[in-house]
Amino acid sequence: MTKNLPLFGGIEGGGTKFVCAVGTGPGDIRAETRFPTTMPEETMSRVVVFFQEQEKEFGPLAAMGFACFGPLDPHPASPNYGHILPTPKPGWTNVDVIGPLKAAFDLPINFDTDVNGAALAEGRWGAAQGCNPVLYLTIGTGIGGGALVNGKLLHGLLHPEMGHISIAHDMAKDPFPGTCPFHGDCFEGLACGPALEKRWGARAESFGPDHPAWELEAQYVAAALANYIYTCSPQRIVLGGGVLQQPHLLPLIRQKVQEKLNGYVQAPQVITAMDEYIVAPGLGGQAGVLGAFALAEQVFS
Ligand code: ADP
Ligand code: ZN
Repeated sequence: MTKNLPLFGGIEGGGTKFVCAVGTGPGDIRAETRFPTTMPEETMSRVVVFFQEQEKEFGPLAAMGFACFGPLDPHPASPNYGHILPTPKPGWTNVDVIGPLKAAFDLPINFDTDVNGAALAEGRWGAAQGCNPVLYLTIGTGIGGGALVNGKLLHGLLHPEMGHISIAHDMAKDPFPGTCPFHGDCFEGLACGPALEKRWGARAESFGPDHPAWELEAQYVAAALANYIYTCSPQRIVLGGGVLQQPHLLPLIRQKVQEKLNGYVQAPQVITAMDEYIVAPGLGGQAGVLGAFALAEQVFS
C-alpha cells in the first residue's frame, strides 16, 4: 500500500561514494544509483541528472533528503546552510551542495549529516523504534554520532560531534598519539578505523578476534558510551560503521560499558538487558538511503 505515500528522493553523500534513490521507505526503493565522490560540481550534477530522470519515470517527488558527510551547516536560516564546512576532503570545503539541487528542483530539501540520517532511520524503521532518546554512533573512517530526541534530531550550534570527546588515554599502556588533526587523542583519534590501522600497522579487517586491538578498542568505545549514557540517558544505542563489523566487538563493548557504569544507572536496560540496549543497526546496507528518506519525510512532520 505504498502508492499513496509521498515519493522521496534520497541522497546519501559519503566521502567515497554517493548513493541516490527514489522511494517511500523500507521495501519500496524504486530506483537507485551509486557513483564515486569526485569533485563537487561533477558529483552534484550526476545527482541532479539522476533525479531529473526519475521524475520523468515516476512523476514529481514530494521532498528530498540529503544525508551528507560533514561537518556541515544544517540550519536553514544560516548563510552557510547547505554548505560543507572545512573538511580534509580536497575540493569540498565551503562548497554549497544544496545550491545545484535548489536550482534544478522546486522541492523541500532536508539537509543533514549522514549520522543524523541514520539515527532518524533507525528510530523510524530500524533497531531503535519506540525508543526516546535514540543515540546512533558510527565507527568507521571517522566517528560520528546523532541523537534523536522526542522524534527530532538534536542540532544546536551545528550538529553534535560525538566522535571528538575526550576520553581517558593511558599513555603508558597505549602510547599511540591519535589521528585526529584537531585533537590528537580524542575518541575518534584513538578509536576510528584509520587509528586502528596506524596503531597496529595493518587494516582492522585483518585482525583476528584475539588481537589485542579489540580489548583496547572496546575500552575506548565503552568509555565514550558511558559518557553519552550519563549525559543523554538514551533508551537505546545503535552502533554502526565498518569497525563494528567485527562480530565479537559488540559483546565486549557491552561488558565494558556495564563495568564502567558499575551499577550507577539503575535502569533495567543497562542492568539486565544490555543485549537489547547496545545494538547493531537494523537497516543494514540500506541505512544510508533510508536515512535520506527519513530526512525527506521530516519535511512533513
Ligand atoms: P566510512 O566511515 O568511510 O563510511 P566504513 O564505515 O566502512 O566507511 O568504515 C571504514 C573503516 O572501517 C576503515 O578504517 C576500515 O579499516 C574499517 N573496517 C571496515 N570493515 C571492517 C571490518 N570487517 N573489521 C574491522 N574494521 C573494518
Ligand atoms: Zn578530534
